[in-house]
Amino acid sequence: MLIEHLKARLAAIEARGERRERHRAQTPTATRQTMRRPDGGKRELLMFCANDYLGLASHPALVQALADGAQHHGAGAGASPLVSGHSELHHRLEERLAAWYAPHIPGARVLGFSCGYMANIAVLSTLCDADTEIFSERLNHASLIDGARLSRARVTPYPHADLCTLRAQLMQSQARIKLIATDAVFSMDGDIAPLADILMLAERFDAWVVVDDAHGFGVLGARGRGTLERLGLSSPRLILMGTLGKAAGLAGAFVVAEPTVGEYLLQAARAHLFSTAVPPALVQAQLTSLDLIEGPDGSVRRERLALLQSRLHAGLARLCAQHPALGWHAPRTDTPVQPLIVGDNAAAMDLSERLARAGIRVAGIRPPSVPAGTARLRITLCAGHTRDDVDRLLQALQACAHGWSPPARPAGR
Ligand code: PMP
Repeated sequence: MLIEHLKARLAAIEARGERRERHRAQTPTATRQTMRRPDGGKRELLMFCANDYLGLASHPALVQALADGAQHHGAGAGASPLVSGHSELHHRLEERLAAWYAPHIPGARVLGFSCGYMANIAVLSTLCDADTEIFSERLNHASLIDGARLSRARVTPYPHADLCTLRAQLMQSQARIKLIATDAVFSMDGDIAPLADILMLAERFDAWVVVDDAHGFGVLGARGRGTLERLGLSSPRLILMGTLGKAAGLAGAFVVAEPTVGEYLLQAARAHLFSTAVPPALVQAQLTSLDLIEGPDGSVRRERLALLQSRLHAGLARLCAQHPALGWHAPRTDTPVQPLIVGDNAAAMDLSERLARAGIRVAGIRPPSVPAGTARLRITLCAGHTRDDVDRLLQALQACAHGWSPPARPAGR
């Protein structure tokens, strides 16, 4: 019965044009990947789909820190944090991040997690219960959505960046505890949430604000501390999740909150309590990554990224203006995530495949990752890209646009 049931579901995914495949990359860096060809040969692709925004994943200092960390502390933590897995290095990482965030969240306490997905699940499922109403931004990452589901709280979605609706919902709410959950930088759109206004609403209606800064950490703000630094925000009502798997170039995540929330998460977050602590070698590399992010190397990388962003957006805007009949659309973002919205699922995937044939890999994104009718290329930039890389992408897109005839749409797409 299970197999028949799953086959029917798989067929439905196929019919919607949403079937996905994993590419087997070899020796990936943020900007180049070597792929094995069916004939056994190798082929290098120029990449615009990694989240390694600062290009730190292949930084020699991080590679060295991982090796040194394993040499000195072994390969694994051996136990969950409250048993014996929490080391001096884990403590240093949390203290260091607490100092980074103290100007933004008074008395900041930090708790480490194995990844951002688990950290978001932990925050919402631990802090919320049936007495809570979660106001959830419609474009939130899956991990916030899943955390809200697990919490058994009442979940009220609000449309993307629609603060009038959010305000009305907060005003009507009878819940004892109110919590607004939002991505800081939306992962598929690259825009930044209006956090200053959201915080004002939170203060007015006595709500808390959970902010997922997966795509802002390391990239935004003069010292790379993320969206709170960029927007100059400070409030004890903020509960922030940052991942170390994107701009920090590694893996792992952390949650920052005011002291009582932080202590409660330590005591009660099941994803922290009942899961093996991340390897100390990884934590050593995470500390090195923080050095790089806040040092001159990080500043130079962020500046380079900003220049590339402007060049890419200007080129895409020209492309869309030259080919209005295509209906392509490239909203300006102030982050390294730049969408080119195509609309139709099959058309977006076809564009991605055409680029791949030209040696360029850009992820085509379809529902359910984005709303129906907004399939797109999600172009991500890395400080390691050159201006020539960006120009090559723009030229390849021009070539696609000139000869563009969208693929025939099979029924159901
Ligand atoms: N939040 C957002 C907005 C993300 O894009 C991601 C990763 N795709 C996560 C959370 C999960 O982070 P991690 O990869 O560290 O699990």
